[in-house]
Amino acid sequence: MQFVPSRGSDGVHPASVRFSEAILNPSASFGGLYVPQSLPDLGTIFLSEYLHRDYKHLAFDLLQAFGIDIEEDLIWEALDRYDHFDDPNNPVPVVQIEEDAWVSELYHGPTRAFKDMALQPFGTILSSLAQQRGEHYLIMAATSGDTGPATLETFRDQPNIRVACLYPDGGTSDVQRLQMVTESADNLNVLGIHGNFDDAQQALKALLGSPTFKDDLKQKGIQLSAANSVNFGRIIFQIIYHIHSYLELVRRGQIGLGDEVYIVVPSGNFGNALGAYYAKHSGLPVRKILIASNANTVLTDLINTGIYDLRDRDLILTESPAMDILKSSNVERVLFHLLGAERTRELMESLNDDNVYRLTDEELKRLQEDFAAVETTDAEGEAVIAAYAAQGYLMDPHTATGIKAYRTLREAPLPTLICSTAEWTKFSPTVARALGLDATEDEGALAAVSRAMAIPIPKQIRTLFDKHITHDTIVDKEDIQREMLAFL
Ligand SMILES: *Cc1c(COP(=O)(O)O)cnc(C)c1O
Repeated sequence: MQFVPSRGSDGVHPASVRFSEAILNPSASFGGLYVPQSLPDLGTIFLSEYLHRDYKHLAFDLLQAFGIDIEEDLIWEALDRYDHFDDPNNPVPVVQIEEDAWVSELYHGPTRAFKDMALQPFGTILSSLAQQRGEHYLIMAATSGDTGPATLETFRDQPNIRVACLYPDGGTSDVQRLQMVTESADNLNVLGIHGNFDDAQQALKALLGSPTFKDDLKQKGIQLSAANSVNFGRIIFQIIYHIHSYLELVRRGQIGLGDEVYIVVPSGNFGNALGAYYAKHSGLPVRKILIASNANTVLTDLINTGIYDLRDRDLILTESPAMDILKSSNVERVLFHLLGAERTRELMESLNDDNVYRLTDEELKRLQEDFAAVETTDAEGEAVIAAYAAQGYLMDPHTATGIKAYRTLREAPLPTLICSTAEWTKFSPTVARALGLDATEDEGALAAVSRAMAIPIPKQIRTLFDKHITHDTIVDKEDIQREMLAFL
């Protein structure tokens, strides 16, 4: 299958590429993103074949259905990364929390957030492609807290890849920061920046587009790539688990094959939701994808009003920082599939130039056939955490935003799969406060919640506090390029 640029072709960048090219060089014509030219038709026959097969076989065949140009051996090697999840036979446990609601726990990988689901196999593929081609890549990741640790973790000591990770100083939890600044492999660099996540993301985009930076890298024989969800290599692995969780409900006799469900996605850069959208349009019976946001309502406003408006909008720091976002990159891919390249380019240019775009009523109606959306305040989120903890189920503040979407957005009483995007251990001070426990630092909060709920702290988190801090640099935006070159 070919991948095409979301804003049409400028005659300089390729007009279409294979998968390997799209993931090595993810920036496309006119600053757009690569999107699959068409989607595979999975249908119930495809689905029924996987009722008795495991996650990795489903994943393998789904990747094949997208016609990716990656050797079979390498795909299997990449999928073997799931062997290091808590349960190698089932990387994504599905847990019932209401009569008609189940949580897809996407956080059982090494960094305890759902980013591992895609980044773990992606790291193996990218490094192997680079080795095969004799090329060296620099991966720059801007992170609001979970992408960074997961990116560093997947590329640690991987040949031909170096990673530079930018995080907003003060914009992550202690655990997230420690996961990054204690990484000690030689091919990894971590920089705190003065600013918020959008500043980090903008700085990264500027560097990725900067000719002088590219020249400097070229002299060193290094090319640039990206591992955030602008990279389709991330997205493709985020389709699989939505299908897996649906099949889990069928296996348990909770639904019949072909029955419709809702999928709830706590959203930021919209990669996870896009994975659900692709699953739906490849034939997974999904009535709608319910989008949860926090006080940063740019996505909920778009889906409810058709207007993406950044004028007079400041980033609000919330208790679900991985969803603190203004520019949500993957919405563009949905626009492409709904409206085509020309209109997508028009809308994205409007956002660039005027900080706003407006869908027509007709376009909004089509968007709302796939999505509904609602925001959740921090106070509402804490109340949700407390209520479910009282029943013995512990969730993190991102997952908590999904509960309101489940309660308020369904138009029919259909079974609902709620994506849980992080383990409570990554945001323990918020969880402790929600439970009325007295602890403000991560270390104390972890202990307090663990004791109160009689739930163990996983080793990956417990051992962080004793590790040596290897990266303590915090810089201004303007100094990033210089710091990068020094690292290289
Ligand atoms: C990244 C992340 C999100 C947002 O996911 P997107 O795919 O960017 O929408 C939500 N919750 C957590 C915990 C995350 O790490």
